Parts: sequence; structure tokens; C-alpha cells
Amino acid sequence: MSVEELLRSRIVDVPDFPIPGVVFKDISPLLGDPDAFAAAVDAVVAACADAGATKVVGIEARGFLFAAPAAYHLGAGVVPVRKPGKLPGPTHETSYDLEYGSNVLQVHRQALAGGERVLVVDDVLATGGTAAAAGRLVADAGAELVGFAVLLELASLGGRAHLEDQHPGVPLHALLTY
Ligand code: AMP
Repeated sequence: MSVEELLRSRIVDVPDFPIPGVVFKDISPLLGDPDAFAAAVDAVVAACADAGATKVVGIEARGFLFAAPAAYHLGAGVVPVRKPGKLPGPTHETSYDLEYGSNVLQVHRQALAGGERVLVVDDVLATGGTAAAAGRLVADAGAELVGFAVLLELASLGGRAHLEDQHPGVPLHALLTY
């Protein structure tokens, strides 16, 4: 079985979760399989090794699960991007629109100060709004955005084009495309 076949075999479609009409990509089986989890982390690391990242940003919450081991292997620090009310220090903050309502994300101001090279990691790229917002936080902090990496991309939702529009020239590495 190829790495791609292994990863695909450990991702389960859950129709109508968390709301009707959404097909949720459940990565729990992948996380729980030592071979699949290691293969996913190794693939992110291999795809991003040349970017020279000094920090890996993980997006709450499933992004943390890949950002931390990738950062360890890349020799980078890991920086959480979080929902409001979780980070105790001064933060940069940005909001972005969802289909209904909006979301806010924050990052510690001091975490990315001073010329860091930053890779943004999440599990799923859908419309790209979340990753683009994380990229804005990196830019607001004065750091250099060197790439995005996701386990999987839902191509029909246009996230790749949205990221290219919002962060031109920043590479997106998706291990799987659906
Ligand atoms: P978006 O901002 O539309 O790109 O949505 C990306 C965020 O929502 C990621 O943090 C994902 O964890 C989550 N997400 C969106 N759509 C799905 C989906 N179909 N299955 C699993 N997670 C999703």
C-alpha cells in the first residue's frame, strides 16, 4: 500500500456532521494508527523541509496534532493559533467570515516577533478562510509566511485559490486532495 493509500484508508467520511449538508472528514482513525500517523507527519516534514521554517503555527485544535510533531522534526518551535480567551498574553487578533457568522483567531504577539520564518499547519483546508486568517496573524506579527501545509484539501471548496488570492506566492502543500 502506498502512503497515499494508507492515509486515505484511515480517513472516514461522516455525512451531516456537525451540521446537515457537511461531509466531515474524520481523521481519528489516522491519528490512532501509529503507521498512518507517522507517515502523515513524515510527509508534512518532507514537503516542507526546504522552507527553512523557524516556527510552525498550528491552528486550534486538530492543527496542533500535526504542527507539534512536524515542528519537532523540522527543528522549529511550535506556536498555537487559538480561539479567543485561551492565550494569556498580549495577542494579535483577526476575524473571518463563515457561512453563518464569523470566527476570531489569536496568536501571542511575542511568539512570532523578530524575523521568524513561519509554516502554517492544519488538518483540513476547506474554503481556506481559517488558514488565510492564520496567515494574516503571521503577517501582522511581522514574520515571514513561508508555507501552508494540510493533511487534506477539499478542492471543490476553493481554498487553494483563496489562499493564493490572500497570500500570493506562498506555497500550499496538501498531502491528499479530495
Ligand atoms: P475553512 O476555513 O473553510 O478552510 O475550514 C477549515 C477548518 O474547518 C479546519 O480547521 C478544519 O479542521 C475544519 N473543517 C472544515 N471543513 C471540514 C470537513 N469537511 N471535515 C473536517 N474538518 C473540516
